[in-house]
Amino acid sequence: MAYSDPIIISGAGPVAMVLAVALYRQGVPFISFEQLPEPFVDQRAASHHPPTVEMLDKIGLAEHMINEGLKSPIYRFHDRVTHDVIAEFDLGLLSDEVPFPYVVQYEQYKLVRKILELFGHNSDFNVQFSRAVKGFKQYGDHVIVEIENADGSSEMVRGSFLVGCDGGRSTVRKTADISFEGFTYPEKFIKIGTYFDLTAHDNRIAIRNYFSHPEEWCNLFRVKGEPDKPDIWRFVVPMRVGESEEEAKTPHAMQRRLKRFFPRDEDYEIAYANVYTVSQCVASSFNKGRIVLAGDSAHVNNPIGGMGLNGGIHDAINLASKLVPLWRGELGMECLDLYTRQRHKASTDFTQAQTIANKKQLEEKDPAKRKRRLDEMRAMSEDPIKAKAYMRRAQLIDSVKAADAIT
Ligand SMILES: Cc1cc2nc3c(=O)[nH]c(=O)nc-3n(C[C@H](O)[C@H](O)[C@H](O)COP(=O)(O)OP(=O)(O)OC[C@H]3O[C@@H](n4cnc5c(N)ncnc54)[C@H](O)[C@@H]3O)c2cc1C
Repeated sequence: MAYSDPIIISGAGPVAMVLAVALYRQGVPFISFEQLPEPFVDQRAASHHPPTVEMLDKIGLAEHMINEGLKSPIYRFHDRVTHDVIAEFDLGLLSDEVPFPYVVQYEQYKLVRKILELFGHNSDFNVQFSRAVKGFKQYGDHVIVEIENADGSSEMVRGSFLVGCDGGRSTVRKTADISFEGFTYPEKFIKIGTYFDLTAHDNRIAIRNYFSHPEEWCNLFRVKGEPDKPDIWRFVVPMRVGESEEEAKTPHAMQRRLKRFFPRDEDYEIAYANVYTVSQCVASSFNKGRIVLAGDSAHVNNPIGGMGLNGGIHDAINLASKLVPLWRGELGMECLDLYTRQRHKASTDFTQAQTIANKKQLEEKDPAKRKRRLDEMRAMSEDPIKAKAYMRRAQLIDSVKAADAIT
């Protein structure tokens, strides 16, 4: 059957906005409800892998992020104990396989901001702020979604489908009673951004770096500054188990953390710091009747490897390819089961498996195992066939192919 009611999206984060553009470009009406009064300036994701850039190119967004972000074909693994560069991977090796053989560093808030700048002035690009999704009921051919306004008043809105793009604590997932299975790491992670130019300090630093250390591993990535500001180097490091956010964010604690990596007499100029509780969880299903989940509402993982938002964008693009013909009456409801089968596999077999392995790799404590893992990483980077196989997995190229192969 064909529908006339809009598709309702809970949230206006990056996954919601990519889904919105994909629906809008195909002329399918939607309303996105966002609980916050304005787009969140969120310093979490920044790395967009080659398949993500390719997907965003198909909906006209890639050129903006490439022009405004940083292209990063190379990334390096460092041993923080010996100060050696263990391995370098060059995505240029995949240039005969993917149209964008590099990662684009472009923060998620810039992606949301760009989408609203490009499309927000169109009345049918319907994004409503200060409007929270509180619950829903679903019927044979529609959903009724309860919306709460900033003044506490509520309203019922009718839609054809409801997509939960409302993050790890998703109201949609909880109301649909879909379980979220996995675990939470005992230690929190802190992200500290500094304006200090680390390449001037150590020319072995690439735009994207991983540091292995038994007590204090690190992801170190560069992102482009706002027009009037220098670029920012973002450290993500583990906190001590039990260390509070207040302790970790004192200027003294932050300076000590950065100086353990790059000793210097002067203090670092801190751009921002955020503390995160990190979990590995996947929803048991990504659809239930007319309710669908995408992005962090369906899966969360640690940020090592930069995969969470990438997987969420892959969800959004895959889901749009089903919702558009379903809404037009060209496909049946079973296409949403296929969406779950495809994206659930991508999430569990690839994103979850790879991010868990990435963390173990960086934090290995046993000296013999650690040496073996680092030797393997070095050997892999020196063998072009193995390096390409590794990058296809680490850059989520394999995950998209495996999902698409499910029919
Ligand atoms: C330190 C760190 C670094 C990371 N780096 C990367 C990276 O480099 N690459 C990568 O791929 N991923 C990365 N991630 C993961 C990435 O940030 C998330 O996967 C991404 O934010 C998910 O986007 P989303 O749109 O699904 O959810 P969110 O970004 O959480 O957006 C959800 C939106 O829904 C809104 N909302 C919530 N509830 C409601 C409601 N009831 N009604 C209406 N609106 C609601 C929220 O206000 C929010 O705007 C990182 C994560 C961390 C912690």
